[in-house]
This record gives sequence, C-alpha cells and structure tokens, in this order.
Amino acid sequence: MASPVPAVGGVLEEARRLYRQTFGSCPQVEVCAPGRVNLIGEHTDYNDGFVLPMALALVTVVVGSPDPGRAVTIVTANQDVEEPRRVEFNLPSDGSPLSPGKPGWANYVKGVVQHYRAPPVPGFKAVIASSVPLGGGLSSSASLEVAVYTFLQQLQPDDGDAVAKAVACQQAEHTHAGVPCGIMDQLVSVLGQEAHALLIDCRSMEATPIPLSDPSVVILITNSNVKHSLTGSEYPARRKQCMEAASVLGRQSLRDATLEDLEDARSRMDEVTYRRARHVILEIQRTVRGSEFLKKGFYEEFGKLMVESHDSLRDLYEVSCGELDQLVSAALEVDGVFGSRMTGGGFGGCTVTLLQAHAVDKAILHMQMLNLNSTESNSNNGSVHDPVSLNVGGELYATTLDTL
Ligand code: ADP
Ligand code: MG
Repeated sequence: MASPVPAVGGVLEEARRLYRQTFGSCPQVEVCAPGRVNLIGEHTDYNDGFVLPMALALVTVVVGSPDPGRAVTIVTANQDVEEPRRVEFNLPSDGSPLSPGKPGWANYVKGVVQHYRAPPVPGFKAVIASSVPLGGGLSSSASLEVAVYTFLQQLQPDDGDAVAKAVACQQAEHTHAGVPCGIMDQLVSVLGQEAHALLIDCRSMEATPIPLSDPSVVILITNSNVKHSLTGSEYPARRKQCMEAASVLGRQSLRDATLEDLEDARSRMDEVTYRRARHVILEIQRTVRGSEFLKKGFYEEFGKLMVESHDSLRDLYEVSCGELDQLVSAALEVDGVFGSRMTGGGFGGCTVTLLQAHAVDKAILHMQMLNLNSTESNSNNGSVHDPVSLNVGGELYATTLDTL
C-alpha cells in the first residue's frame, strides 16, 4: 500500500508557514477538526433519521492570534477556492449581522462568527489549511466550521456543550453558505472518536460510538474526482420533496413514517415525491440495522445494506452520477469486497467500500484502472496519483484513493 496521507502534521506545518509569511509572527492558537466519511444513512439527517458516519484523520487546521480591535483577517492555504484567498472584514460593533458575500469560502467563517454562542467575538487573524478534499463529500465544510468554532473558543470560551456547538456550525452553513444541511457533518466533526463510527439519532442528537477495531477489515474511500456543489438547487429540492411527503403523510418528518403509510398514501403524491420518501424511510431502517451488524462484525450483512443504499440513492433519490456508479460497480467485482456505495450528498465526491484487508491493493488497482480509462475518455483533469493510505488509528483503518 502507498504512502500515508499528509496527516495533521503536514497541514499544520503548511498553515504555520503561511501564517508567518503573511503576518510575520507565530500563531498563538492552533486547532483542528476532522472531515468524515458516512458509512450508511444518506439524506436521512434532515429527516430526523439516523446516520452512521466516522471521523477521518483528514482535518482542517486553523492557526491564528487575537487582533486588538474589531478587524478579522483570514487567509486560506487552499488553492482550490474562489479568489481572493485573503479576506478582511470588520466585526459589527452594534450587534448587526455579518452579511455573507464574496468570496464564497469566507462565508463559512463569517457564519460561524455570526452564530458563535459567546458574542461579541474579538478581532483575530488566522490561516486555514485542510487535508480534506473540498467538495469531495468528506465534509470539508463542516470541518472548517468546527475548526473555526474551536478557534473562537480558545479566544473567548463559550458556555455550550458539543451539541450546541454543532448546531451553531450547522446554522452557519444554513444562513451564510446557503446550504440547508442536516446535523450529521458538524456533529461527527465535534464528537467523532478515533477508530469508532458514530450512530447519530438526528432527532434526539444522541450519538453512540461503535468501535471499529478489526484488523482484517478496511474502509476504503475513493474520490471520483467529480466535484459536487451543494449550494446548487438539487439539495434544497430534495429537502423540500421530503417535507412535502411528510406533510401528505400527516407526519412531522419521514422519521415517523412507515413503508405501509407511504404505500397507503401513494395515490396522493406524485411519483417523484413517492420515490424520495421511499428512499428515506428504508435508508433510516438500513442505518439502524447496519449499526447492529457492524457492532457484531457481520460485515457481509453490512455490505449488502451498503449496496442497497447505493442503488436507492441512484434510482430513487437520484443523487448519484456515472462516475460514482462505475466506482461502486468496479469495487463490487473484487473478491473480498463486502459492499460499496457513494457517500455524502452526492452528485460527485467519494465512494466508501468495506472490504477485507487482503483485498485492498486489488480493489485500488481495479478502481484505478477504471479511473484511468474514464480519465482518458472524458479528459477529466489528467493524472491519477498514487493511492494514499490513511490510518485512522486503532487497528481498523481507512484508505483513500485520492485522485485529486
Ligand atoms: P464538502 O463539505 O463535501 O467538502 P461542500 O460543498 O459542502 O463540500 O463544501 C466545500 C466548500 O467549503 C468549498 O467550496 C469552500 O467554499 C469551503 N471550504 C472548505 N474547506 C475550505 C478551506 N480549507 N479553505 C477555504 N474554503 C474551504
Ligand atoms: Mg459540506
């Protein structure tokens, strides 16, 4: 297997270097927050359902120092964002809201400042660097929000708990980035533990750690290299369709509906709404069953649910894309693979595959072949780099095949 991912150390060094170069001193505060991979439970969080994500050793780092006065200066090391990469703004002194604007990436920071639970936030200067791929379905956005929140906590402690922190970060994404996301990404970024998945009940916000410590099993993350944009209309449209379905069913949310309820009401909703609701109702069931399987080490059974989940996201929820489908099909052709599915909001991003450790190299090669082929055929952006292995601690590890 290939070289380790640039873990926290590498990104931290990058952030420190850029900070020294930009501000001519060393940062006083250094924090980080992880990205995540969702094992199962897609598009269920905003339906009050269950999700089963796991924090990754891919992180967003924020380093910085307080700045006297009301000025904020932020710089991102990421080349992959809208220019400019250095942004300055003033914190309103009269309590008026901090408006979103251009460039888009700075809105994630402004949103967190706006929703920070212990205002007024002092002025600061900071550098952001991340090993989470942007727009790759591994939640660079939540890791940025949570890292910024943690940074602010170091400047001025707040009184909230972990859930309040996650909710504030979710609010930031709603109001300032325009993405009406559920709570999964922020909650796992705040609460995720090494070598554990987290079963989250998105209604009660209860999070139950599920140990993953089987050295013979691997979670493989593969980047399709197709960038999604969740700020488009598709994500809000899905959310709206789910609310419509719940309203036809006379339920607060799809969490409260059964498949029987849905079948009874089928004639009272259009076909698309029916399909969206069917995905959500069954996906919530799959997630709860899946967490039990994972706890017991029933990987075959869990893998089957992953495949069902992918098929449902492709056919009923319609958030997959050709590249993700191809990667999943390729993975499923390899001996020793239990299951594979797209992960994250969809329309691009990554797949996640559960497989036996001895099958990892074969699976990577098989998917790389496919990626090379599709790179040739759709002249994407060129080269495929070495696969990168990522140790998420403990004995079970995740591997990313990063083709960015
Ligand atoms: P995902 O969360 O799956 O990576 P999103 O579309 O939700 O994808 O969030 C990606 C956006 O978050 C980026 O386009 C950018 O605006 C912002 N972002 C994330 N990480 C950084 C970073 N390190 N620097 C600047 N902006 C970032
Ligand atoms: Mg995101």
